[in-house]
Amino acid sequence: MPELPEVEGVVRSLRPIATGKTIQSVDVSETIITSKANGKEAIIKGADVDVFKEALPQMMIERIDRRSKYIYFHLMKDGIPHLLVSHLGMSGAWFYVRNLHEIEEEKFKRHSHVIFHLEEGDMLVYADIRRFGELRLLESEADHPPLLLMAPEPFDQDALDHYLAMSILPKYENKAIKEFIMDGHVVSGCGNIYATEALFRLRMHPARKVKRISKERKIQLFNEIVIVLLDSIENGGSTISDYRSINGEAGNMQNRLQMYGKKNCPICGRKTLQKTIGGRTSTYCGTCQK
Ligand SMILES: [Zn+2]
Repeated sequence: MPELPEVEGVVRSLRPIATGKTIQSVDVSETIITSKANGKEAIIKGADVDVFKEALPQMMIERIDRRSKYIYFHLMKDGIPHLLVSHLGMSGAWFYVRNLHEIEEEKFKRHSHVIFHLEEGDMLVYADIRRFGELRLLESEADHPPLLLMAPEPFDQDALDHYLAMSILPKYENKAIKEFIMDGHVVSGCGNIYATEALFRLRMHPARKVKRISKERKIQLFNEIVIVLLDSIENGGSTISDYRSINGEAGNMQNRLQMYGKKNCPICGRKTLQKTIGGRTSTYCGTCQK
């Protein structure tokens, strides 16, 4: 599943090519139309396909930003701002092409679900193999309250204080540290890959309870998360499973991971262990992580 660095990579690639372009029309795949007609909220959330298709033409892409694991397309039409929020789910990807044949990987080409036709024949294509992704057209963040509850960006000044304040709340202090740091209300954009890495780099056991960790260690962990996320952004994100940056590009961070998906600990060489924490599989070293 794409995490913060992967989404940042998509945003950085889309920004120079799609900013300033105006949407001319929108095509939605038969799969999504049928699924929505059957009452499923497939990809297009909170609006009927027709409403979505009719609202977007003539909207200009003013700015593209990332917020946690979401892509925010700031749009403008007749002086009124709108916000198209995109979440990549498990296997969503964006492509900027003139022709669908330019999408090299067949599985993405076959799952091109929403096509935004721009001027001069350019197309911004949202492809999603498993269809867990989301596209939501809003006027502003306030129209979808869960967006307002996200923790500050991990690189913002108030992020550490926010995380520390959450760590002493009764609802969090008995949780496993890994579940805690993967909670989007606590830290923005730290999913399984980077939580696993940060805990390993700090030699901290993922199941350790939040209240059993000193403030100093909590701060060290937060700083480690930031370092791992920045390292990944610099290396183009981790290409694991079906994540692709814009136009199918792969990142390099998967080669720098030390614990996520590893069979043996890179320090002591022993077999890594797996445990389900907060509903997610966690890989760790039973010897090195305390
Ligand atoms: Zn070890």
